[in-house]
Amino acid sequence: MTDGEICNCLVCHGNELFIRKNFSQKLGVSIIAVGFIASSIAYYHYLIYWSFGILLASALVDLLLYTFVGNMLECYRCHTEYRNVPGLEKHEAFSLETHERFRQQAARQADEGTPHGSES
Ligand SMILES: [Zn+2]
Repeated sequence: MTDGEICNCLVCHGNELFIRKNFSQKLGVSIIAVGFIASSIAYYHYLIYWSFGILLASALVDLLLYTFVGNMLECYRCHTEYRNVPGLEKHEAFSLETHERFRQQAARQADEGTPHGSES
């Protein structure tokens, strides 16, 4: 590990991390929601072109934001997020298979962790 590159998760020491867009889904949904409301208001006032224009513009803003935001790393196991780290592109994109493996592992561990009443 050099220059602060992230190879392992600093929290749980897991070595499986994936790249994803540093894009807030909440923000994306908010933009669309605001656009939809503004569009509805325009529609109500018979401003049909504005209505469609606003809807289109909000979708476009969403798309542009998504395109231009940087990438970030996330840990499969503990979901810690790493932003602005060097060596980020060495990691792979999200894999549902790996995600599922960790999810099942976590579920198993949670199951083992609960007392069954047989312990003395
Ligand atoms: Zn982790």
